[in-house]
Amino acid sequence: FLYNQVQDLKGAIRVYCRVRPFLPGQPNGQSTVDYIGENGNIMIMNPLKQGKDARRVFSFNKVFATSATQEQIYADTQPLVRSALDGYNVCIFAYGQTGSGKTYTMSGPDLMTEETWGVNYRALRDLFHISKERADAIKYEVGVQMIEIYNEQVRDLLVSDGSNRRYPSSRTCYIRNNSQLNGLNVPDASLVPVNCTQDVLDLMKIGQRNRAVGATALNERSSRSHSVLTVHVRGRDLVSNSILKGCLHLVDLAGSERVDKSEAVGERLKEAQHINKSLSALGDVISALAQKSQHIPYRNSKLTQVLQDSLGGHAKTLMFVHINPELNALGETISTLKFAERVA
Ligand code: ADP
Ligand code: MG
Repeated sequence: FLYNQVQDLKGAIRVYCRVRPFLPGQPNGQSTVDYIGENGNIMIMNPLKQGKDARRVFSFNKVFATSATQEQIYADTQPLVRSALDGYNVCIFAYGQTGSGKTYTMSGPDLMTEETWGVNYRALRDLFHISKERADAIKYEVGVQMIEIYNEQVRDLLVSDGSNRRYPSSRTCYIRNNSQLNGLNVPDASLVPVNCTQDVLDLMKIGQRNRAVGATALNERSSRSHSVLTVHVRGRDLVSNSILKGCLHLVDLAGSERVDKSEAVGERLKEAQHINKSLSALGDVISALAQKSQHIPYRNSKLTQVLQDSLGGHAKTLMFVHINPELNALGETISTLKFAERVA
């Protein structure tokens, strides 16, 4: 059954919506989420409006209410993750305004317990677990890359100086757009072999730390850049010796909030323009794929170029869109849901 379900997801784009709870220590204001249906509907309410204009319904493959646990979120992600071991290319995105819970879904909270582990950790744990189960038939090798895309430049977050230490790269990486080679799209970003979940946890910590380097207090970089953790899987069939290759991209996108043009100047304006451009390029690619369009505009951003081989064709895509239920986030919530509806 699970197998068939995975097959059905091929080429399809799934969109899940997750509502962040009100945070402890914050006043428990009125939520803009009026109603969540079993069938993937979510109703948003504007308490400042009356009548028909006050409510709007959006539809997705699934909507997770504030009570959803990390385990429940992962349960619905697992089939896609597992298909990377069957040779598929898979992309999982976290989209939403800053503070809506993207990093919580992908990585987890700052102070993490096993219960709050995010999709990244659970996915890797699962991949190692299954590759062990299949060890009699297939020999798997797993390697990870971690890059960030900031102001349309790609940076390696796992550069090594030859010792065991890893540093952020000051150099920008190039993107190879030749899927025929069936190699890496960012060939000069470090590819680090990993053998167990702990190896990955260690690397993610380094990657997170490196991401923060260069950020000033005023400029919290993680919300202005996309981070892409790519897990490359290579499996050799021990009987036939045939090779299968799959990969899983786990993408924590830059905050989707619109920046007030009158306020943003200099660096901040440049960042905002790059983010807008790359998020709309991503939306254009996914909606072109969803409409089975002839031309897919991959070339319009670094993000879509890096992920080109893993969006469309035989690839599988899942986007988690995050919303913040607070009233003062209503404008961003509506634009997030509109974006998501366009790609669904
Ligand atoms: P983003 O990455 O979109 O900027 P974060 O993931 O950092 O947002 O979330 C903002 C804050 O809300 C963090 O303190 C985070 O721990 C908390 N948070 C987000 N989602 C949840 C959730 N589902 N349950 C509990 N706390 C959450
Ligand atoms: Mg974040």
